[in-house]
Amino acid sequence: MNQTWKKDSRKSIALRRPLERQVPAGPQGRPLKISQYYGENVFYVLESKSLKKETREALGDVLSGKKTLTKEMANDVAGVVLDWALEKGVTHFCHWFQPLTGDTAEKHDSFLSIEAGRPIEKLSASQLIQGEPDASSFPSGGTRSTFEARGYTTWDLTSPIFIRDGLNGKTLYIPTAFVSYHGDALDAKTPLIRSNNSLGKNATKFLTTAGFKDVDHVQVTCGVEQEYFLVDKIFAQDREDIIMTGRSLIGSLTSRNQQLEDHYFGTIPDRVLAFMQDVEIELYRLGIPAKTRHNEVAPGQFELAPIFTEANVANDQNKLVMSTLRQVADRHGFLCMLHEKPFKGINGSGKHLNWSMSDNKGRNLLEPSKTPHENTTFLAIVAVVCQAVFKRSIALRASIASHSNDHRLGANEAPPSIISVFLGDTLTKILETLIADHAYTPEEQKILDLGANQLANLLKDNTDRNRTSPFAFTGNKFEFRAVGSSASIGLPLAVLNAAVSDSFAAATTKLETYLSSGLKIQEALQKLTKEIYKECKAIVFNGDGYSSDWVKEAEKRGLPNYRTTPDSLIAFGEKKNHEFLTTQNVFTESELHSLNNVSLERYIKYRSIEVQGMKKLVDRFVLPAAFAYKNELAQTVYHSKEISCPADVELSRLTSLAHHLKEIDGIYKQLNDTWAKTHHGTEEEVAKKIANEIMPLVEKIATECNVLEDSIPESYWPLPSYFDLLFLR
Ligand code: ADP
Ligand code: MG
Repeated sequence: MNQTWKKDSRKSIALRRPLERQVPAGPQGRPLKISQYYGENVFYVLESKSLKKETREALGDVLSGKKTLTKEMANDVAGVVLDWALEKGVTHFCHWFQPLTGDTAEKHDSFLSIEAGRPIEKLSASQLIQGEPDASSFPSGGTRSTFEARGYTTWDLTSPIFIRDGLNGKTLYIPTAFVSYHGDALDAKTPLIRSNNSLGKNATKFLTTAGFKDVDHVQVTCGVEQEYFLVDKIFAQDREDIIMTGRSLIGSLTSRNQQLEDHYFGTIPDRVLAFMQDVEIELYRLGIPAKTRHNEVAPGQFELAPIFTEANVANDQNKLVMSTLRQVADRHGFLCMLHEKPFKGINGSGKHLNWSMSDNKGRNLLEPSKTPHENTTFLAIVAVVCQAVFKRSIALRASIASHSNDHRLGANEAPPSIISVFLGDTLTKILETLIADHAYTPEEQKILDLGANQLANLLKDNTDRNRTSPFAFTGNKFEFRAVGSSASIGLPLAVLNAAVSDSFAAATTKLETYLSSGLKIQEALQKLTKEIYKECKAIVFNGDGYSSDWVKEAEKRGLPNYRTTPDSLIAFGEKKNHEFLTTQNVFTESELHSLNNVSLERYIKYRSIEVQGMKKLVDRFVLPAAFAYKNELAQTVYHSKEISCPADVELSRLTSLAHHLKEIDGIYKQLNDTWAKTHHGTEEEVAKKIANEIMPLVEKIATECNVLEDSIPESYWPLPSYFDLLFLR
């Protein structure tokens, strides 16, 4: 067998040049500064000069919850948005929503309308506010019967309307929430908005009780670091497994992979840089403040991080970042892989969810500030967050659970499936000495009272070193690192917000009691911090989260460790583990029920696709390649014998090949038998069987396939290898 396609593909990649893109330019063709075209494709309602002043002000009140949206306001906005869009050459509009599939959905309608027999462009108030997609084709987890399949999309004012370019026309995107006929959330956005409101309200109440009388509003802030892999399309499209499942189901690791640590922060390859710049131009026009770009640890892995913003907007922006990465990659001849573990044996991709809160004065609630007064508050808030994570770790674990993240959590260079909090030595010591009623003494023996300026610097220096924690304090924010790269941040954010909101509410009640018993604010805050921290300190772990010792230690501490998605979702399904979400009005019980159903159902579907994909790979690629090579070896041995030439080497290779084929066949049959028995039982049982019985077999087949890949000449191997996928671009 002589496969020339691989050589041809490699040659064509070697000849590929970076794709040039027109940088936005001014009158004399001079390149514009980013700030000159930033946000040009976005319609910010509160800043629009074309809107009537009353409408603008009324919309401001709607946004802060003081008023509800009226038809008149919507009419006004629709008219102005239509003019703005037409001016920019937009022809269509769509309601953009985020069903529980985890992706985004959109159905385009043209502005075209025929009135009195004449064509005109139109966008009515009701078209702006409400859409009615047929919801029966979106997962609902059983909240609806088919006869009430109707679902509604409703305009989300808190996230701006924007325009996306297509090659031959432009479309107006209206961010919307997706709810059922009965008002149940069918997306992650609705719970997220509710959780922002809940946390905003409870954090505000806590702060005003703690003496900050100027606070009347707290918002959640969020910055999402997005990791991804780039693979040349020419090879990716020859890997059915990658196209169908988002990851390579088999693949032998190259001898050099990431041991030399030479990729992280390395020089960005030209073709990749051209891609990144193209992505950034798109994002800037969409008002997404892309800030950081760099090579990540694994070969072929990169990262993009924007400047943080309000949580709901950050959620929408991350959706756009993901789809822009995919689209632009395609233009540049790449496949952008957002899967958590596209390649076995090297780092997977995460999505670090940087999270904090800020008040109406723009103060970051997690900034270790300079006055003692504020520091006591800061410490109390840190304790509140720790308590939230401690008490709600099962829900937090479930919020990041997916079939794909299961491969990453606990694997190479990824946080474990145990939820813990990293505070860093300094902050931990401050809290520990507080509960022990001692004065805090820093390492250098300088007395550092809690009000000293050094605190901020000390914390910054001491908190950004541990990369192994699923939830880490990093100077002036927490970083939820266990979130998967392909995940939507809506759910983890909603759960985290609700958990913290719930803890704030309890803390405020206590604080009020202490204050009314005569304690001064500072004393009351300290007492509160001590009490909370004592209760939840088992969640704090500053050591190496990747080590096996931690797994044992965590078990001793009683911290849950749900390794698989089914286990985690089943635990989350228990009322005691999710009830806080209903008391904080973030989900209704029936929404949670359907969310869990959808998640389990999706787990089963994705895994089924992987199992079928694996079988296809074995049947159509791996075995035929092995048979062909085996045949050649057999012929050689046979003919050698005829001419009395020694063929011991060939024979030993042949025997070993035959042995591995038998191994694969054995596991393959076992997989088939087990699979046939898997689908009896409830969804929970099926999902568990898949995780515990099927996936280990899939892994075993993969390992055997990889042995074959290593023992068969490249000219016989019909699939692009890890070398092609990770090193050629
Ligand atoms: P690192 O890789 O060291 O974690 P990055 O600069 O890559 O740092 O990412 C940090 C992210 O955290 C950025 O998106 C940044 O905007 C965000 N961030 C910074 N401050 C806050 C905050 N107060 N609230 C939420 N996110 C924040
Ligand atoms: Mg980073």
